[in-house]
Amino acid sequence: MILSARSDDPKKREAALESFYRKEVQNETEKLLPVLTAMTGLSPASITVRKMSRRWGTCYHREGTVHLSLSLAEYPPACLSYVLLHELLHLRYPDHGRGFHAALDRFMPGNRAVASELNRLRRLSYGAWADPQTPDPPENDLP
Ligand SMILES: [Zn+2]
Repeated sequence: MILSARSDDPKKREAALESFYRKEVQNETEKLLPVLTAMTGLSPASITVRKMSRRWGTCYHREGTVHLSLSLAEYPPACLSYVLLHELLHLRYPDHGRGFHAALDRFMPGNRAVASELNRLRRLSYGAWADPQTPDPPENDLP
């Protein structure tokens, strides 16, 4: 896919790309969330899509909020499904304990392969969205 922008200003071009990525992730999330909520019985109070330098997603289980990385727009749809399910399960299981992984295996039997692929892709693209001015929240890092 080729995106074109009228501006030569790198900041404006980056902002346009971020806006495109945000809409892509939001649109896919709107399709996925009802399916995952029906499967798990879990529904977040809010979901935001944001630039995150070190994580694909974060869940604040006490507040019921989920943040998803803009970078998920660059990867196969299964990656967003996996991260969204992962973060939704943190609403019930705050850590990565046995209950969390049992639920992940139950609701997405191929989750380990998707997580491996996501980690492989992260190594290939890590840094593309790094922004030291806005560090990611400190909880619920992906495995
Ligand atoms: Zn996690």
